[in-house]
Amino acid sequence: MSSGAALPSSVERLIEALSRLPGVGPRTAERLAFHLLRTPEPEALALAGAISAMRANTRPCAICGHVSDEELCRICRDTSRDLGLLCVVEEALDLVAIERTGAFRGRYHVLNGALSPMSGIGPGQLRMKELFERVDAATAEGNPVREVIIATNPSPEGDVTLLYLQERLGTKVPSITSMARGLPFGADLQYADTVTILRSLEERRGVE
Ligand SMILES: [Zn+2]
Repeated sequence: MSSGAALPSSVERLIEALSRLPGVGPRTAERLAFHLLRTPEPEALALAGAISAMRANTRPCAICGHVSDEELCRICRDTSRDLGLLCVVEEALDLVAIERTGAFRGRYHVLNGALSPMSGIGPGQLRMKELFERVDAATAEGNPVREVIIATNPSPEGDVTLLYLQERLGTKVPSITSMARGLPFGADLQYADTVTILRSLEERRGVE
């Protein structure tokens, strides 16, 4: 991957950093770095500034784990949302995809991934404890969750996560539903089109 001594070390460092981005191989990283070398300086520095500002101004929402610029995200701050309806997603981008439909008026819980025994990802690596505590707290406060919609991806990991959540939440919540069945197997929720997500949401079914 290294271009040897042919390039200044600062360029090498950028190429190295870019090549660690998802979907960017060494050749693409070189092309991007050279593009940034030729770009007018203000434009190139605006990119660096946008990365710094994003990192400085965001944090996970204290309730749902979504990306937020305040302690609570915009969705958790919205008092018109239905507290009895909770949609569990793997990633914040899945939440964004569901929000795009405009059809869901409940709240979310972002797990930050899915269970994967093969990769050693267990419940402790995900925001599972926060989910169970949240459901218990809602019951204790007299605003119990009526339905948990499990919107994990239609994948082996998503299915393992779905079954685990059904087992752990089945006794706490009256209705556990899944919207994964409406999506083609292996398709990531965040890349699905709005109509497909909307249909999966409307046709969600109870988890047996
Ligand atoms: Zn939130």
